[in-house]
Amino acid sequence: MKFEWAPQHQAFREKIRAFLAENLPADWEHRAHHGPGSREQTEFSRQFCGKLAEAGLLIPHWPIAWGGRGMDAWCQIILAEEMWQAGEPRGAQYMNVNWIGPTLMRYGSATQQARYLPRIARGDAIWCQGFSEPDAGSDLAALRTRATRDGDIYRIEGQKIWTSYAGLAETCFLLARTGTDRKRGISIFLVPMDSAGIEVRSIPSLIGEGDIHEVFFDGTEVQGEALLGEEGGAWDIIGFSLNNERLGIPRYALARRALGRAVTILQSRGAFIGEAVRVQASRAASLCEAARLGSYDIVDQRVRGVAGTGGASAVRVATVMAERAVGEFVVEFLPDSLCEAEPLLKAHHQRAIVAGIASGAAEIQLNLVATELLGLPREPR
Ligand SMILES: Cc1cc2nc3c(=O)[nH]c(=O)nc-3n(C[C@H](O)[C@H](O)[C@H](O)COP(=O)(O)OP(=O)(O)OC[C@H]3O[C@@H](n4cnc5c(N)ncnc54)[C@H](O)[C@@H]3O)c2cc1C
Repeated sequence: MKFEWAPQHQAFREKIRAFLAENLPADWEHRAHHGPGSREQTEFSRQFCGKLAEAGLLIPHWPIAWGGRGMDAWCQIILAEEMWQAGEPRGAQYMNVNWIGPTLMRYGSATQQARYLPRIARGDAIWCQGFSEPDAGSDLAALRTRATRDGDIYRIEGQKIWTSYAGLAETCFLLARTGTDRKRGISIFLVPMDSAGIEVRSIPSLIGEGDIHEVFFDGTEVQGEALLGEEGGAWDIIGFSLNNERLGIPRYALARRALGRAVTILQSRGAFIGEAVRVQASRAASLCEAARLGSYDIVDQRVRGVAGTGGASAVRVATVMAERAVGEFVVEFLPDSLCEAEPLLKAHHQRAIVAGIASGAAEIQLNLVATELLGLPREPR
């Protein structure tokens, strides 16, 4: 099969590249390594996303009724590839356009939609995702943060961890327990982060300033209208959200660009010679290409409206392998580049070290490959 982009998709990619060339400052690579959760980058992203919105490039895949342009999933992946390989200048807002907005369109009340969607569409909203807890990551249904109804309000008690962007977010997309059933006892709340009883503590890490946090809820009260969908209905909504989130992060795109940069530097030093370096570079490039083409297969299924075959988990594993292979290549052959002098390689490295744990562990994806793709029996619980 010969894969070629349709002229309208090619033109769309060129439009995004022209926008990036015009709107990313010359020192962007140096700024980007501060991390998407840093105050500096969050402020930059607000302005950048505002301009993207004006150019019709923030939410082109959203329905026209919500301010989008009704473009297909190919345009969504092209946009995501170009943004990710540029170091994700949308910062935290990639989540809004990929899955928070679409989830609110599908499950939100008219009041919630009117309150949140226009701000997301303008590029002016920062959200965080309060799913993981100290004893509930891969096994999300074990979460213990509790929301207790008291008349017209819910009172929230508990702790979240690894919450990206929580230090600057205005709203948390929060999972909390409202019943005893492992899955059907979980609900979603849209919680204003300036509510009383919320404490955010930054977790120092290698991956960038202000990126991950602990969030404590101590009797935090929210109105009943903060509940998204039905009480106890979180599980179906999460399935929809994660499905959208996973299409939205083509991590192979930055990995491929970083590999290209590394090879160019090695060539300029006369060091891209010998079997070891060439074999490792080829291996990393092949893994990036496998992840890219696998992702296109998932997009194709979505565009044609056919049911998934379990391949999405395999593509996520392939993407993790690609990121790790590029990271290992750089560590082995260009370790000096991981200092400030090569911010692109450093930024990729920071992302590669959490590949396979952020947005869900790779081993869990392998379990899904085993059951959904290979038809092997499930692990007994
Ligand atoms: C950079 C970063 C950003 C993040 N941002 C957010 C965020 O914004 N919001 C949020 O809610 N969470 C966030 N997370 C948390 C992330 O979703 C969890 O780290 C992830 O789901 C894994 O959960 P855990 O850390 O509890 O690890 P665990 O679930 O305890 O897993 C530990 C190890 O055991 C393995 N393991 C666990 N269960 C199985 C199994 N059944 N079979 C095989 N192996 C298994 C895992 O693969 C892993 O290697 C972020 C994490 C990182 C690293």
